[in-house]
Amino acid sequence: MLKVFEPDNVLYVCTCGSEKPITKIYFCRHCSQLRCGDCVSHEVDSHYCQNCLEYMPSPEARLKKNKCANCFNCPSCMHTLSTRASNVQVPNPDNDPKIVSKKFYYLTCGFCRWTSRDVGIPDQTTASGGWQETENPNSKRISQLMEYYRLLAQKEKLEKERKKINQKYSYLHISEKYGMSANVVRKLAGLPPSVSSKDETKKSEQLTLPEATSAVEPLPNSFLTQPLNLASVSTMKQRLFSPQFQPAYTSNLFPQNKYMHIKRSQRCKICEHNLSKPEYNPSSIKFKIQLAAFYHIPELRIKSVSKLYLEKTCRVEMVLINPTPHPAHITFEDIEDPPKNLSPMKLPPGELILAPRDDTAEFDDVTDSKNYKDDPNVVTFRKSNKLGFMFSLTPTSKDVVVGFRLKHDFINMVVTLPGETPREPQVVWITHTLKIKLGTIIGET
Ligand SMILES: [Zn+2]
Ligand SMILES: [Zn+2]
Ligand SMILES: [Zn+2]
Ligand SMILES: [Zn+2]
Repeated sequence: MLKVFEPDNVLYVCTCGSEKPITKIYFCRHCSQLRCGDCVSHEVDSHYCQNCLEYMPSPEARLKKNKCANCFNCPSCMHTLSTRASNVQVPNPDNDPKIVSKKFYYLTCGFCRWTSRDVGIPDQTTASGGWQETENPNSKRISQLMEYYRLLAQKEKLEKERKKINQKYSYLHISEKYGMSANVVRKLAGLPPSVSSKDETKKSEQLTLPEATSAVEPLPNSFLTQPLNLASVSTMKQRLFSPQFQPAYTSNLFPQNKYMHIKRSQRCKICEHNLSKPEYNPSSIKFKIQLAAFYHIPELRIKSVSKLYLEKTCRVEMVLINPTPHPAHITFEDIEDPPKNLSPMKLPPGELILAPRDDTAEFDDVTDSKNYKDDPNVVTFRKSNKLGFMFSLTPTSKDVVVGFRLKHDFINMVVTLPGETPREPQVVWITHTLKIKLGTIIGET
């Protein structure tokens, strides 16, 4: 049986110590170090709708509660809804005996056949909709709570500040600094409220915080007397899909606006340079900056592993791939003080030279191995920017893992502005620690 090796079997140790496959790691060319998802700060770059690909600036997205106004999900199966047109015969408005046909639009799910007509939503006369959003029944309470907590946060901030400066503060100054109403500041300062501040007191009096109670409303009688029609009852998934309504019956399922998706950019936490920055255009899958490790660091893949026996010499064939347009020089080193779970191995001696990546080379049948003085005991094949090599190991535990250090050169192309004298590219030597999971030994599975 052919064994398939997942990319997760070859792990690169990040600067922070976590082990990740090369596809999940960044390379900061400013620090010349690996950075994993925990070593970069994630920033929201732009909001967009995954369905209509409309771009929305962040303040607008916040205002619209991260929802797209034109795209909807099916409340029954969560699939995207599409607009359907139907011709309806209507009497001519000019009292003509002739009957004219008019187009009406409704929403329908191509997956489960749910339509907006099922729940009695009136058809629209325009294709773009203008579908009324059902108002959240708790919106008043939510805004009340938001206001209360905003007040609380401001108060806390104020107190912190007061402790910090440790001096008597002027309420006017604070009113300016935090944009709080003068009445709130007066109250915080212990001054009697001014005439117009009665509104404020009213607001905080209106807000009643909920209290837990053991009294539960009794079950309606119909639950015991009427037969249950499961088709009319919504599922838990459907209920939680619209948390503001939580409809118990399928007759109350209403279309749900699609939530906006975001494009993220990643920044090195140490030097604060951008490691990944997508294009703003939602339909573009290109990046302005892309320092993913697999574009800059030689990639290692497992090609084949001989049968693994405990305490016996086994052989592994691996493939090295150079993703850069420059030749790569690679050497292997042992890990100092290797952890006990690593099986000892015999690394290939000397330097392996990888040809630069050439996108036209895959159409070339000729292998240029003659230009390289390869040791046939180490190098098994060579094809454009790829190279196969062998090493041996002696498994010492049930799960066979080997580890070593990979040293390679990285050509840092310094970007120069037009008019600037071009600077020499810098050569940096970098060493990474790699861990390779080879599988389990024979007879122990
Ligand atoms: Zn990390
Ligand atoms: Zn949309
Ligand atoms: Zn559906
Ligand atoms: Zn950095």
